[in-house]
Amino acid sequence: MSSIRIVVIGGGPAGLLTARLLAREGFGVTLYERLDPRSTYGFGVALAGPAIERLRRVDPEAAERIEPICLPLRRWTMRREEESASVEDRGASGVQRTGLLRTLQDLAAEAGARIEAGTAARIDEVADGADVVVCADGVGSQAREALAARVGARVETVPIPYMWCGANLELDAMTLFLRRTPHGVFCGHVMPYGDGDCTFQVDTVPAALRSAGLAVGQGEGDAGSDEESLAFLAEVFRPLLGERELLGNRSRWSTFRLVTCERWSAGKCVLLGDAAHTAHYTVGSGTRMAMEDAIAFSEALSGEGGLEAAFASFERDRRAAVERLQWRAMRSQTWWRTLAGRYDLPLPVLLFSYFTRTGGVGLERLARSNPDIVAAAVAHWSGGEAANWAGEDPRRALLGSRLLGAAEARDGFTVVPCDGVAPWSEQSRSLPAGLAGDGDRGVLLTGRDCRRSLLDRFDVAEELRAAGGVKVAVALPAGLLDDAATAIAAGRTDYVVTEE
Ligand SMILES: Cc1cc2nc3c(=O)[nH]c(=O)nc-3n(C[C@H](O)[C@H](O)[C@H](O)COP(=O)(O)OP(=O)(O)OC[C@H]3O[C@@H](n4cnc5c(N)ncnc54)[C@H](O)[C@@H]3O)c2cc1C
Repeated sequence: MSSIRIVVIGGGPAGLLTARLLAREGFGVTLYERLDPRSTYGFGVALAGPAIERLRRVDPEAAERIEPICLPLRRWTMRREEESASVEDRGASGVQRTGLLRTLQDLAAEAGARIEAGTAARIDEVADGADVVVCADGVGSQAREALAARVGARVETVPIPYMWCGANLELDAMTLFLRRTPHGVFCGHVMPYGDGDCTFQVDTVPAALRSAGLAVGQGEGDAGSDEESLAFLAEVFRPLLGERELLGNRSRWSTFRLVTCERWSAGKCVLLGDAAHTAHYTVGSGTRMAMEDAIAFSEALSGEGGLEAAFASFERDRRAAVERLQWRAMRSQTWWRTLAGRYDLPLPVLLFSYFTRTGGVGLERLARSNPDIVAAAVAHWSGGEAANWAGEDPRRALLGSRLLGAAEARDGFTVVPCDGVAPWSEQSRSLPAGLAGDGDRGVLLTGRDCRRSLLDRFDVAEELRAAGGVKVAVALPAGLLDDAATAIAAGRTDYVVTEE
């Protein structure tokens, strides 16, 4: 297949790694990147651990060159006003985006790919001279727009305004800094990525932004940053910044775009990375997904069979993992969007809630890696009695009187089916009104016997609890006790109910 001519549109992680891997296999590869290589963009990004390991298996040299520019993140600290709590977690590294792109660009060129930097490409212009067009032109992909009807593309806006800034700070941990202002809560996601440099990304809710007199998109011209917002945020985060200022790099309030496509290829064109799918930045996995797409696509194209088979094999390999991550990212963005409802939980409980927000990590795993945080959550919900559960199963301490049998629940709770009710939405908000007049009875949320449905029920339960005045129980499918204990430790539900 090496007589195949490949054109790649976009020199982000997806496009550059694809160019490198395919050029190494002997394909003729030309990559177009619209930006000048000296232009900077976006400070640092978190690179999820498995990215480097997967790369090492297919291209050990590339992994060897990328690893030294990554700063391992071993601790996560949550600061709320004057308090702070931490957990150990070795899942990711911080890496300067420009450093990563430079390294990938060198690797692609060394493998024989032709890089046309500073040249924007349009799919209709490059398609004639190519056998395969790899569309890796990012979240705003023009190529995807051109193919939208054929690939079933959808782009939705996530209503969480964010601004990507930087700061010169010596931090030894990924730091989530939460500040309540008269306008609302502002969250700084502060990630060190080397030499005292940090990405300082801030998000909030639209009402807080409006109340502060700030707006999405405001700023000076095309190249400038929103200086008014930078100054405002520097004051909000002064306790962390000290004398330092927040750094801008075309920094303005934006909103994240969630991209999904029913298919990732059409004719000779294939979509990779953010052009094909995005996952909210609070799960820090976009770069990893882009690199994993590049690896899977290169493997598929280098295998047996024609182009159509390669495109199908790539999609078979990647779709389940991408959709799983998008589901987790959806849960993560909901957690951040609704932070105000749980802001006043004891800090270790809030940190526990944060770590378990996507459903990817549960109590059992955290109890092994971070027993202190689990102990604090157990102590909080068991009135202090079970603080010293060391050596025992923390689930037993937590569940205790909160695990009810179905008969017991029938007496004290009104059953509310909630399948299809999206948590923290108009639908879920209408639930408490519908339940008014039930006196002291609690609410038992029921639904399908699957894990996704259960985790949604827990989120609806948390919302009802936050609204106040009602005891909430959730029907638990068999075998999901860890999820039950996790939900109780995070304050999502009062009770869980099992079939007898
Ligand atoms: C605020 C924010 C924070 C993030 N933080 C993280 C994080 O911590 N960790 C993480 O893993 N991910 C993070 N991401 C996501 C991550 O940046 C992306 O998922 C990742 O860069 C996707 O790689 P890509 O190669 O698909 O696209 P991109 O990196 O966007 O690259 C696309 C490239 O295509 C070029 N291009 C566009 N149009 C054309 C054209 N017509 N011709 C030629 N070139 C073109 C662009 O200039 C760009 O260089 C974050 C995203 C946002 C918005």
